[in-house]
Amino acid sequence: TQALSSDLIHQADEHSAHNYHPLPVVVATAEGAWMTDVEGRRYLDMLAGYSALNFGHHNERLIAAAKAQLDRVTLTSRAFHHDRFAAFCTELAQLCGMEAVLPMNTGAEAVETAVKTARKWGYEVKGVPAGQAKIVVADGNFHGRTTTIISFSTDEEARAGFGPYTPGFEVVPYGDLAALEAAVDDNTVAVLIEPIQGEAGVLVPPSGYLAGVRRITAERNTLFIADEIQSGLGRTGKTFACEHEGVVPDMYVLGKALGGGVVPVSAVVSSRAVLGVFRPGEHGSTFGGNPLACAVALEVLAMLRSGEFQQRATELGEHLHAELNALVGGGAVDAVRGRGLWAGVDINPEHGTGREISEALMARGLLVKDTHGSTIRLAPPLVISREDLDWGLTQLREVLGVV
Ligand code: PLP
Repeated sequence: TQALSSDLIHQADEHSAHNYHPLPVVVATAEGAWMTDVEGRRYLDMLAGYSALNFGHHNERLIAAAKAQLDRVTLTSRAFHHDRFAAFCTELAQLCGMEAVLPMNTGAEAVETAVKTARKWGYEVKGVPAGQAKIVVADGNFHGRTTTIISFSTDEEARAGFGPYTPGFEVVPYGDLAALEAAVDDNTVAVLIEPIQGEAGVLVPPSGYLAGVRRITAERNTLFIADEIQSGLGRTGKTFACEHEGVVPDMYVLGKALGGGVVPVSAVVSSRAVLGVFRPGEHGSTFGGNPLACAVALEVLAMLRSGEFQQRATELGEHLHAELNALVGGGAVDAVRGRGLWAGVDINPEHGTGREISEALMARGLLVKDTHGSTIRLAPPLVISREDLDWGLTQLREVLGVV
């Protein structure tokens, strides 16, 4: 009955902080691209845990890897070695074409790690005067929720009321190379950007931007840090979104899909020279690089090496964007952005807020997430079938009144 959902939502409201405003669906089980709620209703998941579920729910290979590891050892802490760690670091470094890995758990922790790495590299290698390190970031960024990270957010909802803020960051307009070049000075240790801004509404920067960031950072002996936590690991049709411009940054920050939606796994991946700034005791995490995380991530890496998911994202992504672009100009959709199986759709506000559209889609069994204003984001698991994707698109067209 409907009562169970309502009871559980009510109970959660009573006993949890209200830092989220979830759609009123209570999921009980999930498989592939589909979730089932406590009343047995089925929903097509076109959010995929903000891309953490690139390989779908209950992925057989990932669940098998997790189960096998559960029966062996799940946590050693980094006080001791364990037998999955070497393979995880080696294979992740190889996938990135880099040398060294520093594992953490959540995306925000990995971004914090990147910030600390860049600062230490700046002082010890680049020779920036103590306490003067600057990191250039882009407006509209989303890198996580810690106090340092929200210090350089331009979203007042994320930032207001949480000061005092961490200094040492300069914000420039996203996509504006001239502004970025002007901001990079002798004390700049890094430029930290998302190759495609996810939370901002799937904003793809102008062509040439990432290549320009690469050129400027190289010329100024500054680290180019690509936060590929949401854009990376297959979502855009490439392993890394930076590849679309043939760009290799100095450091990848990865998370979300690295743990396959099973366990939180994040990492900073870079050169030995950069990650070599850390000595024992200077940084760490109890759960970072734990055996269960490594076992699941190793399976994720094996799946990514096959190229199958990148190819699906490319092919289904072309179809998704063709269908969505056909709606632009018809009155219901103002703009569509994105790459691969990832789209930000600006709905004409006359058709409702993003939230209202999301609720109307939910009533039809399609789950998406709104972002600022009347934008909705589509990021289905990369395992979605073309038929299911088409069914989802039909629901969207019907909700928008374009049939
Ligand atoms: N960076 C990017 C680009 C993200 O999209 C996110 C999450 O949405 C994060 C960092 C933060 O990751 P987490 O929520 O795991 O801390």
